[in-house]
Amino acid sequence: MTRTRMLIGGLDVEAADGRWLPVYAPATGELLAEVPRAGRADVAAAAEAAAAAFDGWRRTPPAARGGLLTRVGDDLAACREEIAVLLARETGNAIRLQSRPEVRSAIDLLRYFGGTATELKGETVPLGDGLLNFTTREPLGVVGAMTPWNAPVQLSTVKVAAALATGNTVVIKVSEEAPLAVLAVAAIFNRHLPPGVLNVVTGLGGEAGAALLAEPRIAKLSFTGSTVIGRMVMAAAADRVVPVSLELGGKSPSIVFPDADDDVTADGVIASMRFPRQGQSCTAGSRLFVHESIFESFLARVAEKAGRLVVGDPLDERTDIGSIINERQFGRVDRYVREAVDLGAEALTGGGRWTGSDQGFFYTPTVLTGVRHDWAAAREEIFGPVQVAIPWRTEDEVVAMANDSDYGLAGYVWSHDIDAALRTAARLDAGWVQVNRGLGQLPGLSYGGVKASGIGREFSIEGAIDAFTHRKTTTIALRERNLHVG
Ligand code: NAD
Repeated sequence: MTRTRMLIGGLDVEAADGRWLPVYAPATGELLAEVPRAGRADVAAAAEAAAAAFDGWRRTPPAARGGLLTRVGDDLAACREEIAVLLARETGNAIRLQSRPEVRSAIDLLRYFGGTATELKGETVPLGDGLLNFTTREPLGVVGAMTPWNAPVQLSTVKVAAALATGNTVVIKVSEEAPLAVLAVAAIFNRHLPPGVLNVVTGLGGEAGAALLAEPRIAKLSFTGSTVIGRMVMAAAADRVVPVSLELGGKSPSIVFPDADDDVTADGVIASMRFPRQGQSCTAGSRLFVHESIFESFLARVAEKAGRLVVGDPLDERTDIGSIINERQFGRVDRYVREAVDLGAEALTGGGRWTGSDQGFFYTPTVLTGVRHDWAAAREEIFGPVQVAIPWRTEDEVVAMANDSDYGLAGYVWSHDIDAALRTAARLDAGWVQVNRGLGQLPGLSYGGVKASGIGREFSIEGAIDAFTHRKTTTIALRERNLHVG
C-alpha cells in the first residue's frame, strides 16, 4: 500500500494519532494510496510551523520570493506529465482535455505570480507641509486555505502562489477526495522554500478543515468550495475577526442570440458547460438561454456535438469525458435529472449512466429542454454534466431570468452583434462575463463571484494584493530645516 505523507514544517509527516484515509480512483474504484487523516494537533503543528516561518519569509525581498515561485513552476514543468497522470487518476478527469491543461495552468500561475511579486506598491498621500505620509502593502501572516477536488492542482496553486508572493505563509487543507497531485506539487515547493513557509494538511473537512477554521494562529481564511461550507467559513472568520475570501458555487447563464446559430458557438457552449470535466466546474454555463427563433436548430447542434463526446477511461487519449468523482455526487446528479424528467423535461441527449463500463461513475453529457426556469434543475448547482436549455424572446426577459439566481459567478454571451453582446454583458450580475468564449481562467484576469458565489478575486496580482495584504500607513512629521547648522 502506498502511503503519501503530508507536509508540515518542511517534513513529510503522518497524522499525530497515526490515522490514514484511503484515496480511490473514481474511474476504476482502485485504491490509489492512503494519506494522513489530520486532526487538531496536526493543524496546530502546521500553523505553528507557518507562524515561525513568517518573519523570515515576509523579510525576503519580493523579487527573491518571486524567483523561488518561478523555479517551482519550472520544476513542475519538468515533471508535468507525471503529475497530470496522477491528477487524472485521482479525479477521474480526462487527461487530454482537463488534467494536462490544469497542470499547465498551475505552471503559468507560478510563473505569473513569480513575475509580479515585485508589484506590491504603496502610495504617498499629500497631507500638507511638514508631513510625509505613505502606505505599504503588508502581508497578513499565516493564511489558512481550503480547496475542493474538481481542479485541485490549479485551485490550490492559485491560492498558494498568490499568498506566498505577497509575503504570507500558508497552511492549506486540500480535499480528501483528490489530495495526491497537490502533495506531489507540494514536494516541489519544499525543494525551494524555507521550512514552514508552505504546509499542506490532508484530512476530512469536518476534522482538519474545522480545526483550521478555529486555529488561533490563522490570520486570514481563503476558501474555494461549496456555498454551504463557505457560509460556515465566513461565520468562523466572523467569530475570530479575520478577513475571508470565498470562491463558491455557480449556476451561470449562457445566452445565445439569434445571429449565433453556428458550430463555433455550439462548440463554445459545450466548452463553457465544462462537459469535458463532467460539468464539475463552478463556472459551468449550466443555464443555456437560446433565442426562441433558433431554439430547435441550435440545440440540435449542441445535442449532436455533446452526444459525440467520448466518455471513458480518463487516461485514454481519445477520451473527452471521464468519471464523476464519487458515488454520492453521481447519485445527486442523477436525482436532478430524474426529477426534471418526471416533471416533464426531455433529454435531447444523455440523461443517465454511461453503460460502457461496469466500474466508475460515468454519466452521459445531458442537455434538458422543457425545463422551467424555477425548477431545481434550473436553479441549483448540480455540479455534473447537465445543462438545461430555456428559450427567450426579448433581451429584457433573458437578462431578468439570467439574474434571477442566488449565484453570480460567471456568464457567457454569444452574438456577433457587438452592441447586443456588450449591452447584455454589462447587465449580467456576475463576477466574470465572457463574450464568444467559453474557456477557463487565465493568469492576470481577476476572477471571482458576486452574490452567493463569493467574495474576493483570484488569478490576478490585484486580487492577490487585496486578498492577502493590508495597507499600512506611516505618517512622519518633518521638522523645519535648521538654517543655522554649523
Ligand atoms: P466542499 O465545500 O464540500 O469542500 C471544499 C473544502 O472544504 C474541502 O477541502 C473540504 O474538505 C472542506 N470542508 C468540508 N466541510 C468542511 C467543514 N465543515 N469545515 C471546514 N472545511 C470543510 O466543496 P467540494 O465538494 O470539494 O467542491 C465542489 C464545490 O466547490 C462546488 O460547489 C463548486 O461550485 C465549488 N467550487 C468553486 C470554485 C470557484 O472558484 N468559485 C472552484 C471550484 C469549485
